[in-house]
Amino acid sequence: MTTTSPKLTHQSSIQAVFDAQRRHAPQMALTTAKERLERIGRIHRWIQEHEADLLQAMRADFRKPAAEALLGDLGALYYEIRHTNKHLARWMKPHRVPTPLPLLGTSSYVRYEPKGNVLVIAPWNYPFGLCIKPLVAAISTGNVVMLKPSEMTPNTTRTIKRMVEELFPPEEVAVFEGDAAVATQLLDLPFNHIFFTGSPAVGKIVMAAAAKHLTSVTLELGGKSPVIVDETANIKAAAEQVAWGKYFNNGQTCIAPDYLLVHESVKEPFLRAFRESVQRMYNPNGQSADQSESYCRIVNKNHFGRVRRLIEDAVQKGANVTLGGQLNEADNFIAPTVLEGVTDQMAVMQEEIFGPVLPVVPYQTADEALRVINSREKPLALYIQSGSRRNIDYIMQRTSAGDTVVNDLFWQFGHMDLPFGGVNNSGIGKSNGFFGFQELSNMRGVIKRDFGTARFIYPPYTNQIEKLIGFLVKKL
Ligand code: NAD
Repeated sequence: MTTTSPKLTHQSSIQAVFDAQRRHAPQMALTTAKERLERIGRIHRWIQEHEADLLQAMRADFRKPAAEALLGDLGALYYEIRHTNKHLARWMKPHRVPTPLPLLGTSSYVRYEPKGNVLVIAPWNYPFGLCIKPLVAAISTGNVVMLKPSEMTPNTTRTIKRMVEELFPPEEVAVFEGDAAVATQLLDLPFNHIFFTGSPAVGKIVMAAAAKHLTSVTLELGGKSPVIVDETANIKAAAEQVAWGKYFNNGQTCIAPDYLLVHESVKEPFLRAFRESVQRMYNPNGQSADQSESYCRIVNKNHFGRVRRLIEDAVQKGANVTLGGQLNEADNFIAPTVLEGVTDQMAVMQEEIFGPVLPVVPYQTADEALRVINSREKPLALYIQSGSRRNIDYIMQRTSAGDTVVNDLFWQFGHMDLPFGGVNNSGIGKSNGFFGFQELSNMRGVIKRDFGTARFIYPPYTNQIEKLIGFLVKKL
């Protein structure tokens, strides 16, 4: 009697899908650039055909304005796809490297090979883009992938599942819906690489789980990203950019300016211009921001309560709300808010805010501003608003950050020729374009002997051979 194993479907268990993907991985590794791009093309077409559904899903999840979903979720993803289309064939070719003199007669190259089984765990704030962008990178490198989107944005997660089930067999790409419990089950498995986007706290859990199998990780995390406005900044432009960056997606952006460091001499004009910018963006007709179609909401009650507590704790410890502060729990609404008079003892200056609240920290000397930055973890982004080359260099040389934008914000995420990612607490590893391709590949170094031999240094070691080796290692 023969027993047949049940057919693998998208509804099969995590273990069954993992095992099937492991068996399928060697086949995926053999795919050509054309075959990988055909798969990425399927995703691209599906997104274009279902763009309205996708924007609607994100709106249903937390009133994300279509313009912000287009820019924040789909924008960088479209760039990644276009960039990959253009360059993948070249990236996949062996990358020749120079031959050192002692290795005369050989040639060498770097070969990018897939890691194998990849797990992608995604957050809720850009629920589509931050799940599918790593998927595109993982497919471009010839991996098989299991995806765990966020449980906090159920409409978008359902759409992701639908897309993947329509486009891929489960042994290539599969989606598992669920919360931390499902993520924990996935993290038990011996993946070859985990690409996690989320909080530093969960990043540590992911890294600890990965350590059990010595699985490599990319951790795209968050933290407190400062924006510095110095005495030479273009105040009007800076105020407008910071207002946009702070309240885009309701402040729920990993690279949002978390807190403002402003030179004392320009604080008042900056805050005046900032208030005017907020008014123009969200209250153009004098109504409250809760009437604005351009203003997103906090994702759920838990996060609403968390941000509310940050404001309350600051006020109770002596901070002043100098803009906004209005709340409506029924709608998870918190108005664009500014807090002045903040201190390091307040939670708002200790935790990542991830909401529409901007604490203002005035400073008098650059070293004072640097002390505030360097007494915290290295940020994911550090923004500098300045008209002085000297000031910019001074700050850059004395800080470390994942990325920096001078006199603007946010564009680092969509720039495919720049590495995107954090440092230590704000992240490990980089993504975007070739940086993401490298991250999800094993870089295998290959040396091939074309002619000659090294037998003149083999034993028995005579004095002459010893001298020759000495010459080779010290002089060539
Ligand atoms: P989160 O860490 O709470 O959750 C992220 C993912 O991890 C979700 O899919 C969630 O289900 C899963 N998860 C939660 N608890 C887990 C556990 N105990 N074990 C395993 N998995 C678990 O993050 P979030 O609230 O979804 O997103 C906000 C955070 O993400 C912020 O810190 C933000 O800065 C960061 N973020 C970083 C980037 C980046 O590119 N660097 C982008 C977006 C968000």
